[in-house]
Amino acid sequence: MRPNLPVACMHCDDAPCVKAAKDGAVYKRDDGIVLIDPQKAKGRHEIIRSCPYEVIWWNEEKDVPQKCTLCAHLLDEGWDRPRCVQACPIGALRIIHGDDPEIKQMVISENLESLHPQYRTLPRVYYKNLFRFTRCFAAGSMAYKKDGTIDCAEGAEVVLYQNAEKVAQISTDHFGDFQFDNLDEDSGQYMIEVAYKGAKKNIKVELGKSINIGTIVLE
Ligand code: SF4
Ligand code: SF4
Repeated sequence: MRPNLPVACMHCDDAPCVKAAKDGAVYKRDDGIVLIDPQKAKGRHEIIRSCPYEVIWWNEEKDVPQKCTLCAHLLDEGWDRPRCVQACPIGALRIIHGDDPEIKQMVISENLESLHPQYRTLPRVYYKNLFRFTRCFAAGSMAYKKDGTIDCAEGAEVVLYQNAEKVAQISTDHFGDFQFDNLDEDSGQYMIEVAYKGAKKNIKVELGKSINIGTIVLE
């Protein structure tokens, strides 16, 4: 996992923190927000340990566990979004107020993913393009040499093989760049076949972590 993946409370539907607190020191509201009751949770370190996402921290001064509240206090005042959603200059965050079928449909149509679904906590935070953090890529660039001039090879055909089987096929972009995403870490040897204007080349690649094989020049 890359270290800069943003992770806050997932406001899980089956939240281990709620179960661990037992007496309502952590609770889920009807709108889905999971909150910590600072009075009931005072001095209770076990609440921190209950979260598999490790997003509860300890407030030494107040002697309570704390976490993202989804800015419930602001939403209750009529705000339509939390502060981080409002503040993000590139619109990387969204809050969606919807019922379960709507959210389910959105997850499917936008190809959204949960982080660590194996925890089985039914998280309510979804990521787009999560594979860019959790999986590997094999990338490179293609150029074409003719009459002593080297140009980007836009629209070149690039095929990825493993064990002689085609895994994926893409075309290079305007800059001659290509990238195969969603590959398994340490998944072994691949062959990248590049073709442009009748010229071809095969490049062997050993995939441990993500790799950029640099520029391939055809002529
Ligand atoms: S992410 Fe952790 S703190 Fe948040 S609801 Fe789930 S278990 Fe509780
Ligand atoms: S700004 Fe609000 S919603 Fe965003 S991470 Fe902080 S508490 Fe959570």
